[in-house]
Amino acid sequence: MRHDWSRAEVRALFDLSFPELLHRAASVHRANFDPAQVQVSTLLSIKTGGCPEDCGYCPQAARYHTGVDATKLMSTEAVLDKARQAKAAGASRFCMGAAWRSPKDRDIPKVAAMIQEVKSLGLETCATLGMLSADQARALKAAGLDYYNHNLDTAPEFYGEVIHTREYQDRLDTLSHVREVGMKTCCGGIVGMGEARDQRAGLLQALANLPAHPDSVPINRLVQVEGTPLAGTATLDPFEFVRTIAVARILMPCSMVRLSAGRETMSDELQALCFLAGANSIFYGEKLLTTGNPDTERDMALFGRLGLTPMPVVQQGDTVHADILETPVPADAGPNPSCAVA
Ligand code: SF4
Repeated sequence: MRHDWSRAEVRALFDLSFPELLHRAASVHRANFDPAQVQVSTLLSIKTGGCPEDCGYCPQAARYHTGVDATKLMSTEAVLDKARQAKAAGASRFCMGAAWRSPKDRDIPKVAAMIQEVKSLGLETCATLGMLSADQARALKAAGLDYYNHNLDTAPEFYGEVIHTREYQDRLDTLSHVREVGMKTCCGGIVGMGEARDQRAGLLQALANLPAHPDSVPINRLVQVEGTPLAGTATLDPFEFVRTIAVARILMPCSMVRLSAGRETMSDELQALCFLAGANSIFYGEKLLTTGNPDTERDMALFGRLGLTPMPVVQQGDTVHADILETPVPADAGPNPSCAVA
């Protein structure tokens, strides 16, 4: 497990021939996981829109006119209803996201109550609430929060092209607070924002060189939303996206590499290439909590066509919708236990 990757080393991986890169990434994947298993996670937005930040990709920033209506923080009971639906659909982990720069101290007891109640349903808990102070991280941990998501978004040198209302170091500080209280981290970024290959390498270098590799590494492909500054950005070559997945797998061999935002616009063939390159987690949105959702059906069909099965909830403790996927889950399956501490 390395944490000292140089930019040149990461860039050299990106520059390999496509077959060679995929072969290396698939080899690392197989050495640490069952390549036929894919973890499935869900996310509920508990407070949407109206965010004071200026992330150039985000339709929830109040300053962009994207048609997203700001909502107040959901009530605990409403969140619990969604959590019960998620559990009934087979979920064991429930992620709660709020469009905040950072939670106010007065928000923490409300979110803590949600975490405790969701936890009492027997679900694992995850949250993404913006920047956290050390005390806030401690309070969330005490409430039972298992995972905290906070992305680096992009390479340090490209960051200023995308976000101006917080610093890269702020993100590193939040991740540090989360690690220090013993919560697991979910941390990745977004590609296709107009960055160069070297900057995609820089994002992965920054992630891999954190003091501990993130437990989950969401790799998002920019979803261009009308009204945001990044609308109209040249679309990233799909093969370059696959290369990014492959290099992430090689650098962080025991992390869950997750296809996240942008997956809904990927072809089945592109997703299959990503799984070959070492992606072993996918992200569902809240709407997936509704049975009969066409996206769910498409995912189930793709899993079936590729012979993939949902990763059981065990060592990694991530959400698995085993019940909603038709393929049976082997009782003894799961990631390589030696990787569970990545
Ligand atoms: S902090 Fe989060 S919700 Fe706010 S603008 Fe940035 S990405 Fe969007």
